[in-house]
Amino acid sequence: MVDDRDAAEFAALTASLRRHLERRQRAGIRTLPKSETSEAKPIAASSAVNVLGGTAGDLFADNKTALKADSLEQLREAIGDCKLCKLCSGRTHIVFGVGNPHATLMFVGEGPGRDEDLQGEPFVGRAGQLLTDIITKGMKLRREEVYIANVVKCRPPENRNPEPDEVVACEPFLKKQIDLIRPEIIVGLGKFAVQTLLQSKVPITKLRGTWHSYHGIKLMPTFHPAYLLRNPADKKLVWEDIQKVMKEMRGDNA
Ligand code: URA
Repeated sequence: MVDDRDAAEFAALTASLRRHLERRQRAGIRTLPKSETSEAKPIAASSAVNVLGGTAGDLFADNKTALKADSLEQLREAIGDCKLCKLCSGRTHIVFGVGNPHATLMFVGEGPGRDEDLQGEPFVGRAGQLLTDIITKGMKLRREEVYIANVVKCRPPENRNPEPDEVVACEPFLKKQIDLIRPEIIVGLGKFAVQTLLQSKVPITKLRGTWHSYHGIKLMPTFHPAYLLRNPADKKLVWEDIQKVMKEMRGDNA
């Protein structure tokens, strides 16, 4: 006999599964990756860790606790030892984000690389040094004054691009960070971050250097610092973009 509790649990699980599949469908994912078939490693229902505050056994926790967070600390706590996607298996640290929780200016990159994974902080490798130079030497700001985060919080293996299911799992955390910080300006670093934020397939060469809106927040797309390490001649274009940002921050829109 199925009692009321079994029926309620079954209904909750079905609803959770439906939400999960709808999110995947919205992201254009029509197949289940191997890791979510019988092996089901990353999204571990059996884990003692309460994934994002879901109840034990909440296979498809939909980030409710995280999305209710009132502060970045609460959000980080709710993310916990996240196992929502397969990137969890290769990471050393979750790279949540760093900087001023009330920053006017926020930088958004793609995802942690090797150095970031090891240190647990975004943009601390070679590309990170270049970003730090842009902030400190170019903009005359301290790194601690701005906020820096990535679209995905765990390092993709061999620094490959994050895959759609990984973005679907992680992007709500970035959105929540932006919502909590409420920066006036976001600088999107590189094709991946910008196309993800703008839900666009337009090449970064076309998007960069002009103002866009991310839910009402001014968004300036520019090239990724790692791209600049390979193409130093384009540093001048990034400097033009950054000067537009500085002008906007000064309220000098003439
Ligand atoms: N590249 C990124 O996009 N983010 C980092 O944190 C480091 C390198």
